Amino acid sequence: MNYKAFMIKYAEIGTKGKNRYVFEDMLCNRIKERLLEHGDFVIRREYGRIFVEACSDFDYEDVINELKKVFGIVGICPIVIEECVEFDAIKNKVIQYMRERYGNKHITFKVYARRADKSFPMQSMEINSEIGHYLLEEFSEYSVDVHDPDVLLTIELREMVYIYSEVIRGAGGLPVGTNGKAMLLLSGGIDSPVAGYMISKRGVELEAVYFNAPPYTSERAKQKVIDLARIVSGYSGRIKLHIVNFTDIQLAIYEKCPHDELTIIMRRYMMRIAETLAKKNGCQALVTGESIGQVASQTMQSLYCTNEVCGIPVFRPCIGMDKQDIIDISERIETYDTSILPYEDCCTIFVAKHPVTKPNLDIIKRSEKKLCDVIENLVSSALDTVETIII
Ligand code: ATP
Ligand code: MG
Repeated sequence: MNYKAFMIKYAEIGTKGKNRYVFEDMLCNRIKERLLEHGDFVIRREYGRIFVEACSDFDYEDVINELKKVFGIVGICPIVIEECVEFDAIKNKVIQYMRERYGNKHITFKVYARRADKSFPMQSMEINSEIGHYLLEEFSEYSVDVHDPDVLLTIELREMVYIYSEVIRGAGGLPVGTNGKAMLLLSGGIDSPVAGYMISKRGVELEAVYFNAPPYTSERAKQKVIDLARIVSGYSGRIKLHIVNFTDIQLAIYEKCPHDELTIIMRRYMMRIAETLAKKNGCQALVTGESIGQVASQTMQSLYCTNEVCGIPVFRPCIGMDKQDIIDISERIETYDTSILPYEDCCTIFVAKHPVTKPNLDIIKRSEKKLCDVIENLVSSALDTVETIII
């Protein structure tokens, strides 16, 4: 079957009242961008629906795969379009559609006509029964099942007639760009790419920051983060990735602070720097891949200490998830295989054998005072030397 058009179904956008058009426009834009490299497409809106029509050849599988990654879409229906003039033309088109799509297979079907154009002279029930009748006459292998049909043949009569029987599940969520922008702390691990995906699914545009510690971490570890950002950007759209050289800050913490507090203090500096970059780049929040209790730095007390330095909201979409649930998502969004590549992270190099699991904020603050001679300069030079890559 050679489809030239798709009908896009979206759900949550429909509840946005007066802002609805903003969401619909954004979704159209996101679809347009995504299909740019796959052919010429016209994207058109009709109340409650978006239509994608091809004006050039395209690869069906590629286009479906792209559309499946666009947040805001709940269903993708490959459709056949016919002018809404007379019933005979519609009937012939439906028969042609069924022949091409299902041939002479033994199937059960139900016809489901919807008449948005009430000026059409026949009522939906009448269309259902007439078309059903013709199909049974034309295809002896077909039978009707109104309760649980193999094929739900939908015929929507609008400005044009749209015929479809397949709804491919979309990614859901809201179109990226409808809910502000956030700065994702992206490490090379499993959790943070999943966190980025989840926040982006709610319509949030992403930037990302990676704390790099050369020469203690390799070029390959950095490349792995770039690769992860690229996979996430397949869903979220363009990501501006900021790479911060964190080595001197880590060395200073290592030299001056108690070793069992290294991770917490280091994470507090990551959050401070991430927040500065967020504000500079118009982001309203930070996003991390933290999950309660996963490691020493993610106990409730540790999260309390880490969070204390932040003046903007920090979103942690994985916070209540088990590791396996996070892994399941990472496999589905295809970040998992990259995440498990064994390249060292800056955190793992400077970790203590026995990190505190219940840090006390006053004690941590006291330890941080030991950095007061050097830290301001180190932070500003880390900020001055940020490398930014557009992905
Ligand atoms: P992940 O799988 O996302 O790396 P993790 O289980 O390894 O998480 P931690 O290393 O404690 O947990 O990191 C917690 C969170 O802190 C990460 O999810 C990420 O958001 C952020 N983070 C950790 N290391 C870095 C880094 N080098 N650069 C940027 N963000 C980081
Ligand atoms: Mg990590």
